[in-house]
Amino acid sequence: MKIIDTSIQPRKIQTNSMEKFRADFPILKLKINDKPLIYLDSAASSQMPQVVIDRLVHYQTAQHANINRAVYYLSEIATSEYEGARHKLQKFINAREDREVIFTSGTTDSINLVMHGYGRKFIKAGDEIILTTLEHHSNIVPWQMLAEETGAKIRIVPINDKGELLIDAYEKLFNKRTKFVGLIHVSNALGTINPIKQMIAFAHLHHVPVLIDGAQAAPHIKVDVQDLDCDFYAFSAHKLCGPTGVGMLYGKAAQLEAMQPFKGGGDMIASVTFEKTTYNVIPHKFEAGTPPIAAAIGFGAAIDYLSTIGMDKIHLYELDLLNYATELINDIPGVHIVGNAINKTAVLSFVVDGIHPHDIGTLLNQEGIAVRTGHHCAQPVMQRFNIPATSRASFAFYNNKLEVDALIAGIRKVQKVFL
Ligand code: PLP
Repeated sequence: MKIIDTSIQPRKIQTNSMEKFRADFPILKLKINDKPLIYLDSAASSQMPQVVIDRLVHYQTAQHANINRAVYYLSEIATSEYEGARHKLQKFINAREDREVIFTSGTTDSINLVMHGYGRKFIKAGDEIILTTLEHHSNIVPWQMLAEETGAKIRIVPINDKGELLIDAYEKLFNKRTKFVGLIHVSNALGTINPIKQMIAFAHLHHVPVLIDGAQAAPHIKVDVQDLDCDFYAFSAHKLCGPTGVGMLYGKAAQLEAMQPFKGGGDMIASVTFEKTTYNVIPHKFEAGTPPIAAAIGFGAAIDYLSTIGMDKIHLYELDLLNYATELINDIPGVHIVGNAINKTAVLSFVVDGIHPHDIGTLLNQEGIAVRTGHHCAQPVMQRFNIPATSRASFAFYNNKLEVDALIAGIRKVQKVFL
């Protein structure tokens, strides 16, 4: 199969056109160790703009009540704001209908929902599930649990030395027993953007549904679930300038309707007797109990904020930062970028000869620079490159080139201390 490169190619944009958005983030004014905070860990959790913080405060101070079950003013307003947030997400990912958007507690919860709701119902002994080397643990472990329970098998798509999936190998994994595909859209450890549209199309030729882990894609590139034609798509609010504790699962209505519920309890039922319970319609069938109402409304505000800036603009700006940082880091002797895919988001995983990543992270912190060190919940990626860990700088649209310069100076300083 021919891979069509659909990513947006970098072009020169006015770096300072995004500078004004930086001021929206109060936390970026902090000093850490007497140095201005340089936050380069947005792949783990992005920061929150004032407008989202204000939205949460307004909800708690003027709108809070439990949703769905009452006719009084506050409950009605909370319900309508919660459903309004669902509608914002539907528009953001271009789902066909609001009911295809389910609020979950995050990407991990969304994937577990699909494993329990779809996997436990439809995947049997001897069936095969295709995953990739690039998956985050949250798109590995649930499927391993299912495989253990059912006797299904997991097949893995390998990667090349740049951190790109081997598409020929992916296609060769398909056979009569293939029943499910789980794909990471963008690698959190390396930044690789995978050619998921083509991979989904290939799986569909074999009538196999595909779940996309979009945790690292939705914050950085425009996602259109109808164009991708994925069956499921998952991401978390806290990586998109929203609060922790909430995320979403998109599912095609027909898939969601065919699935069994994941969690039982209030709101997910149509009627309950001790003899028999019937389930509510989607999306409510998958939202048992009181959902994270405030967080979902904050999620909606974050989606509004990002949409106002524009995901294409964010992607272009971040690519410019990535190219700038890649060039500078490649100039430092003894520093090696892990993951050099042609299509990447602004994630720079690197190792430095003779220095453990944790030492790099600790010393950079003394300079006020926050990077993540470790295996990034992607141990199979580390195993592929035969390393225990990397240091990872991940950029967002509120970062700038001065911060990249500070990172580079910080790495050089760390090398002076250790070497
Ligand atoms: N998938 C990817 C690619 C991620 O990067 C992460 C978090 O880092 C997750 C899944 C899990 O997200 P959460 O912890 O919000 O459930």
